[in-house]
Amino acid sequence: MSAKPKIPVAAPSLIGREAEYVQECLETTWISSSGRFIGAFEEAFASLCNVKHAVACNNGTTALHLALVALGIGPGDEVIVPTLTYIASANTVTYCGATPVFIDCDEATFNLDPAELEALITPRTRAIMPVHLYGHPADMDPILEIAGRHGLAVVEDAAEAVGARYKGRPAGGLGDCGVFSFFGNKIITTGEGGMVTTDDDALAARLRLYRSQGMDPERRYWFPVVGYNYRMTNIAAAIGLGQLERIEDHLAARRRIAEGYDRRLRNARSLSLPKTEPWAEHVYWMYTVLLQGATRSRDEVMTRLEAEGIETRPVFYPLHTLPPYQAQALKPYPRALSIAERGLNLPTYAALGDDDLDRIVEALMLALD
Ligand SMILES: *Cc1c(COP(=O)(O)O)cnc(C)c1O
Repeated sequence: MSAKPKIPVAAPSLIGREAEYVQECLETTWISSSGRFIGAFEEAFASLCNVKHAVACNNGTTALHLALVALGIGPGDEVIVPTLTYIASANTVTYCGATPVFIDCDEATFNLDPAELEALITPRTRAIMPVHLYGHPADMDPILEIAGRHGLAVVEDAAEAVGARYKGRPAGGLGDCGVFSFFGNKIITTGEGGMVTTDDDALAARLRLYRSQGMDPERRYWFPVVGYNYRMTNIAAAIGLGQLERIEDHLAARRRIAEGYDRRLRNARSLSLPKTEPWAEHVYWMYTVLLQGATRSRDEVMTRLEAEGIETRPVFYPLHTLPPYQAQALKPYPRALSIAERGLNLPTYAALGDDDLDRIVEALMLALD
């Protein structure tokens, strides 16, 4: 009996003109951080997010750091960040010499719970960073209202939410700025890459200044500030443009997979399936289930699936439980802990067919037994 092929948890889908565009970079020798694809990718991305500016970076983490730097976040400042997120959300605050202040999440969407915001605001608070976790947008209206009332910036970490919508409006186009990642496992990819989106002309100018070593755009090799080299290459942007031209296909593939899991798992009593708020368009970066009343632990289920050649991922460990951030645990964060303990990301990528979904669901039901 031959072993069944392994199913990874994520895989990029390079179905458009990516190869052709990369070939053009090689043939024209525009392989570094100048070239036509960078501007083209930025423009197309700004239009997707319905904002004036998009600033491409070499990954999502540098994009997030750049956004905080351009907003003037620095030592002594506090930024409210969900405890249930990828570590880059908080690390970039730390890079600025500022302090991430952790907030618990909403049970249904796993996102920052706006009801807990006000109690965490201090005279040092400068910004709120909602994260649209696993592709479901955070409840932005109350976040924006509270931020407005307290004079705080809102930086959306939309790394997992390209194409998601809140009340019909694109995620990443709602706060002062939005930040995206194009890592190989994200909704669209450039290999490594990121983007900052904003409607604010002055902020966009600061983003471009700090992205490129702080060089004065009017005076070459004159550096008014300490900047960074966070530029995207033309090759990465070429891949990104190829991806973006097929964005509707990428999003449709994820909806198909989510619907496929929903249908097959509807009657699984020991699982809670992902929920979508009526105001949200979910892009299912990772289809995430929670074990409920199961006899086995989440880690046991993962190990049993691995033995069947199916890769899964645990939901993020809440950041306040990780060594760099344990001292910042202000409270127990019971909802984040419960989701993290029970949560499992199932394989979610365009190349999964019905046979794959059948196989994953069958193995999952056996693993839960
Ligand atoms: C992927 C991700 C990032 C960082 O992006 P990289 O491109 O991997 O640096 C930041 N925040 C969240 C929520 C992410 O999922």
